[in-house]
Amino acid sequence: MHNSRRIISILSLAALFTVAIPFAFRAAPAPDTLLIINAQLADGTGAPLINGALRIRGNRIMSVGKLSPAPGERVIDARGLVLAPGFIDVHNHSLEGLDSDPLAETQIAQGITTAVEGPDGESPWPVKDWIETRKQHPAALNLAIFAGHATIRSQVMGKDFKRVATPAEIEKMVQLTWQAMNEGAIGLSSGLEYEVGSYSNTAELIAIARSAAEHGGIYSTHIRDEADKAFDALLEEIEIAEQAHIPVDHSHIKLGTVGVWGKAPEYIRVIEEARNRGVDFLADCYPYEAWHSNIKVIVSDRHYENPKSVEKAITDLGGADRLTITEFKPSSSYLGHSLAEIAKSNKLSPVEMYIRIIREGDAANTEAQVIGHSMIESDIKAFYQQPWVMVASDGGIGAAHPRGAGTFPRVLGRFVREKHWLTLPEAIRKMTSLPAQRLGWKDRGVLREGAYADLVLFDPAAVIDHATFTKPQELPVGIEKVFVNGVLVWNDAKSTGATPGLIITR
Ligand SMILES: [Zn+2]
Repeated sequence: MHNSRRIISILSLAALFTVAIPFAFRAAPAPDTLLIINAQLADGTGAPLINGALRIRGNRIMSVGKLSPAPGERVIDARGLVLAPGFIDVHNHSLEGLDSDPLAETQIAQGITTAVEGPDGESPWPVKDWIETRKQHPAALNLAIFAGHATIRSQVMGKDFKRVATPAEIEKMVQLTWQAMNEGAIGLSSGLEYEVGSYSNTAELIAIARSAAEHGGIYSTHIRDEADKAFDALLEEIEIAEQAHIPVDHSHIKLGTVGVWGKAPEYIRVIEEARNRGVDFLADCYPYEAWHSNIKVIVSDRHYENPKSVEKAITDLGGADRLTITEFKPSSSYLGHSLAEIAKSNKLSPVEMYIRIIREGDAANTEAQVIGHSMIESDIKAFYQQPWVMVASDGGIGAAHPRGAGTFPRVLGRFVREKHWLTLPEAIRKMTSLPAQRLGWKDRGVLREGAYADLVLFDPAAVIDHATFTKPQELPVGIEKVFVNGVLVWNDAKSTGATPGLIITR
C-alpha cells in the first residue's frame, strides 16, 4: 500500500510540474472542492464533538480537521451547527414512493442519505430488475435492497403457502436467495408475523439465512411475535442467527402488549447473553409508542373471526381506543377513527366491529391498515440506551405513520436534547457508523478522509420532528443541509432537485 501510494504521489508531482510551468503566469483556476468550516464534527464513531472543518472533493471527503480555505474555494460557514455523516436508515419502506417521488423530501429532510428497502420479508423480484430501474431513475438518496423471505417463498410455493415447505421447496428457496444475493441484495429480510412468512418453520429460515450468510449477507427480521410471545420469537431469532452464522438486525424492537410492558430489561438480558456467546446481534428501534401495520397482526392465533381471540387481542393492546384505522378501501368512513369510535357509531361491540372489518376486508381482498398505540416509554428508553440498538424509521415516502417523516430529528430533538436519554455523539453513532457496520460498509457512516461525502449539517438547538398521526408528512426543522455523494440535495428547507443517489450492493 505504502509504496504504491508513494509512487502515485511522485507521478502526480511530476504531472504538476509539466503542467504548471507553461501556465505559471495564468491565474490559478478555482478549486473544485467545497470546504465546510467552523462545524462541530460528530464523526459517527461516538467520539466527542470537536470543532473543525471538512473538505469535499467529488463524491468523497477529501480531508477532515483544521483546514483553511484555498484561494477561490467555495466555503460554507457552519458556525453553531453539527456536521455528521448522513443517516443510514436500515429499515425503510419507500419502494412504491420512489417511483413518483425520487426526490424523497420527507426522507432527506430528516438527514437520511441512504435507505435500505425491502424489509419485513417483501422485496421486488427479481432484485436485478429493481436495481436496474433505480439506476436508470436515480433518487436523491442512496438505496440498498434486501431479498424478501416472503417474496422468495411466494416464488416457490405460489398460492399454496399456508403450510410448512417441503425439503425440495426449501432447496429452491435457498437457490433463489443465492440468486438475489448475486444480483446485489445486501441480505435477507423476513416478516414472520405476516401472512406468507408466518407459515414458515425455523428450519426453513435457517436454511435460507445460511445461504444469505454464505454470500456475505445479513438477516433483517420482523420476528414472529412482538406481543405476548415476544420472548419465544426472540429465542427463535437467536437460534436462526446461531445456526446460520448470520449477523442479525432485529427490526423495530418492541414490546407491544400489556402482558409484556415493562419487560425490556429481561428482553435485553436475553439478547446480552446471546451477544456474549458470540451471536452478532443488533436491533433497530423507531422512536414512537405506536406501531403501524395491518389489522390482523393483533390476533396472534390468526382466528380473526373468533370472538374470544379478538377479545384477547383488544385487551392485550390496552383497549379498542388504542387502534386507529389509517387505510381501508371498502370504507373511507373508518379512516382516522379508533376501533372504539367506529364500533360505537355502528352500535356494535369492539369485538363485533373488528370481525366486521375483517370480513369487509376479506370480501374486497384487502386488509385495513392500523396504528396501534401499544408500547410504553420506559421500554423504548431502555432499548435506545443499549449500544447495539440503531435508529431506523420503519417508515418511508408517503408513510401514514409520523415515523416516515420524523424519526431521526425526533431522536435528536426529543431523546437527546429534551430527555437526555442519549448523548448527541452516541445518537449519531446509532444513525451512521453502527448501521454502516451492520451492513459491512466501510466507506459510509463516518467522517473520514476517503469516505463518501454523505453529510448532514444540523442545528442541535433547533432540530425536531413535526410529523404527527394526523399530519404524518409534516417535515422536521433544524436539518440545514444534506449532501449525498458530495452533492447538495437539501438546502434552505427544500430539495435542490439533485438525484445523486447510488445503489449500494455488497
Ligand atoms: Zn416490520
